[in-house]
Amino acid sequence: MKNTKYIFVTGGVTSSLGKGIISASLAKLLQSRGFSATIQKLDPYINVDPGTLNPYEHGECYVTEDGAETDLDLGHYERFSNVPTSQANNVTTGRIYQYVINKEREGSYLGTTVQVIPHITDEIKRRIKLLGQNGNFDFVITEIGGTVGDIESFPFIEAIRQMRWEMGKNCAVVHLTLVPYLAAAGELKTKPTQHSVKTMLEQGVQPDIIVCRTEHHLNESIRGKIAQFCNVEVSSVIESIDASSIYEVPLLMLEEKLDIEVLRKTQTAIPEKLEITKWQSFLTRMKNPVYHVTVALVGKYVELKDAYKSIHESFIHGGVANECTVKIKYIHSEHLEGQDVEHELGDVDGVLVAPGFGGRGIEGKIQAITYARTRNIPFFGICLGMQCAVIEFGRNVLGFKDAHSTEMNPRTSHPVIDIMSNQKSIKNLGGTMRLGSYPCKLEPDSKVFGLYKEPLITERHRHRFEFNNDYRKEYSKAGMKTVGIYPSENLVEIIELDNHPWFVGVQFHPEYKSTVANPHPLFVGFIEAMIKKQQERN
Ligand code: GLN
Repeated sequence: MKNTKYIFVTGGVTSSLGKGIISASLAKLLQSRGFSATIQKLDPYINVDPGTLNPYEHGECYVTEDGAETDLDLGHYERFSNVPTSQANNVTTGRIYQYVINKEREGSYLGTTVQVIPHITDEIKRRIKLLGQNGNFDFVITEIGGTVGDIESFPFIEAIRQMRWEMGKNCAVVHLTLVPYLAAAGELKTKPTQHSVKTMLEQGVQPDIIVCRTEHHLNESIRGKIAQFCNVEVSSVIESIDASSIYEVPLLMLEEKLDIEVLRKTQTAIPEKLEITKWQSFLTRMKNPVYHVTVALVGKYVELKDAYKSIHESFIHGGVANECTVKIKYIHSEHLEGQDVEHELGDVDGVLVAPGFGGRGIEGKIQAITYARTRNIPFFGICLGMQCAVIEFGRNVLGFKDAHSTEMNPRTSHPVIDIMSNQKSIKNLGGTMRLGSYPCKLEPDSKVFGLYKEPLITERHRHRFEFNNDYRKEYSKAGMKTVGIYPSENLVEIIELDNHPWFVGVQFHPEYKSTVANPHPLFVGFIEAMIKKQQERN
């Protein structure tokens, strides 16, 4: 059985310093040294999970294999570590309270007063230790969302304090802060870092390692000052300089010896071997592309790039596999409505229509699809994007003038996309969609089979509506083939067009499974098709 070590990553001064990337980079480095590691995110908000949050609030909702709707940081964890996460890897204050309150209603606390300490903090600690319990991991890295000093994060910091006290050197705390540069003074300033460490000390936690996010290199005197005022060794002051790509951060952390400091602090023997060559060659390829293509990403949350985080990253992974950089042109689908789409799409090498919910901007998506279909431009539709492709084909090829999804028009005479029968009676919105991983059988003579190179795949889902099987024959006859099926319920998972260079729609979310180590085959194939299209044009 492994003696699991627990690493906590907290943040100070401001939010958005990149705790998720630092946590993922640390996991990557520990893996490269032969350790197993998993990463967990504790979110201080009251929502039970981010599934009901508008993407404008928190960016994309990331879905795990076991169907948990989670924080987008879990996407980074998987993309860096190539290890799947699960429900246990993302816990919110809401989930903790829900669990404790349910137990109280069941009478499990035997008449005691239920309090933040110990009941809430005990539940937090239980959720952290759960991941280490089966001895699966040498390291459990737990990232605490928010910033220390926030009212909401207090119970989480208290849980860390208790775990440190209980486990001693089996725990270490990494605190990420900002060291701002004052241009007028020409100086980096350490005061905000000192204050945020003081805030942690007030709550009983002395950080072991301080990672300093900065725009300029930290010199020895700055490092010394932070070490002295924050009560850590100089070697435990780690610079995290702004990088041009998140994928550079593991190598920057390697240079700064973050992994070595963590091993030292947890009294873990430092292995001699370090296997990081694959990561390095990924970066080399990323920085030296041969091809450059532009894809239009048509969606309705385009003002906030985080809303399509996993798609964005999948284009990087798939791009590197093709020695290609993919520039994403974000296009607001509402702005296409009633417009000449050529104006927006005339210069792109491919069109991706994004996932989404509700009717806003839907006609713009359909117009973009007509353009891609009739001009032989590579097209990739994901979830709602696939459903829009089915609607477009119904209207413009099969002549079903009002074809629609019953999500947008419940009274359409051609419900080509309809609610799944087991979704009809569901009232609660949270956690009730078709979620997580399901198998899908591929047609042997399809384009997608050629990319996956295997007959049975699994992909992750997050939807309530589906291709209406009543229309399958007619669609197939007219050239839109259903080439991927979920066998046990006969659900259409993938459509493809005959007589088109690359037109693929998927009911699932391939973007959740693309990683640095395993770029997703559909993104790889889509990018390849875009490169071809561009070469034909030139
Ligand atoms: N709104 C659609 C559905 O629920 C598509 C969902 C999605 O794109 N994730 O079926």
